[in-house]
Amino acid sequence: MRHLITGGAGFIGSHLTEALLRRGDEVFILDDLSTGSVENIRHLKTHERFHYFFDSITNKQLLAELVDEADIVFHLAAAVGVRLIVESPVRTLETNVYGTQLVLDAASKKKKLVVTASTSEVYGKSDKVPFHEDADLVLGATTMGRWSYAASKAVDEFLALSYWKEKKLPVIVVRLFNTVGPRQIGRYGMVLPNFVRQALEGSPITIFGTGQQSRCFCDVRDTIESILRLIAKESAIGEVINIGSDEEISIEGLARVVKHRTKSESPITYIPYDQAYEPGFEDMPRRVPALEKLQKLTGFRPATPLTEIVDRVVAHFQKEADVVLVPTTSGVSSATASH
Ligand code: UDP
Repeated sequence: MRHLITGGAGFIGSHLTEALLRRGDEVFILDDLSTGSVENIRHLKTHERFHYFFDSITNKQLLAELVDEADIVFHLAAAVGVRLIVESPVRTLETNVYGTQLVLDAASKKKKLVVTASTSEVYGKSDKVPFHEDADLVLGATTMGRWSYAASKAVDEFLALSYWKEKKLPVIVVRLFNTVGPRQIGRYGMVLPNFVRQALEGSPITIFGTGQQSRCFCDVRDTIESILRLIAKESAIGEVINIGSDEEISIEGLARVVKHRTKSESPITYIPYDQAYEPGFEDMPRRVPALEKLQKLTGFRPATPLTEIVDRVVAHFQKEADVVLVPTTSGVSSATASH
């Protein structure tokens, strides 16, 4: 089979690419490298069934050609990460809404299956955990930049489901809950890579808010496994499905786990939300997925223990540090990370 992955050089996209190549498929990726990175796919560049295009999904001509080549389109290209969203709200809205519309429009011409990535952010401030796919979405005021991300992804979902209803374009919407693993970077605010880097550097581990807010962290391998099982199910078409782990931990608890697994001397510090993000920033107190639908459709539910996930992320950071520090034969440090 042939696949197109928009955002294929991103953290999740690169893991999906690897998994599809491993099963013998052909993969085309389209990525503008805004938050993705060449480093994520450098090791795949010479693979004979891998093709990469560093361009925007707004290049309609290229998008149309690549969609035509593909059997399935995985639409992962999006502006992600709370910090990025707070800092660049215009880009968030444009990329997420316009970009998705272009992908759906291109796919609908030949009715190509589109798997579109949404996020647990869409549940907003709801306190009705675990979050079921058909639950109400509780977003904050439009004056709070953070909610533009949730709103843009909710519009993406409406768009995808409308293309299914009105144009019979097969779509599957996956709501991803705090996916983590090797290659995720902390630059856009994601908590686990930030904590691991801080712990390994011996610098303060920065908890935003009280640290009592909780999340469930899902190993990217489990996320990919879920997606691959869903595309094989006719009954997943036209559906919205949560993908995540339901092992809940407070952010303070996560800081302790990271400190313990890295044997770090780093102090744990607390930073008020308005300093970490913007004045009036509202966080989600809890976020837990209901996984019955995923399990019913696929017979699978993510279950990699948090300690194992943290250890894999730590090992990845250590490997990267080794590569950066190893002297080359010319005596100059190599800055090239290998994967
Ligand atoms: N967070 C933190 N320190 C950091 C980065 C994030 O305490 O250096 C918190 C953040 O405020 C949120 C949680 O960790 O409560 C998860 O943040 P992330 O951006 O990873 O994902 P979110 O669940 O907000 O989408």
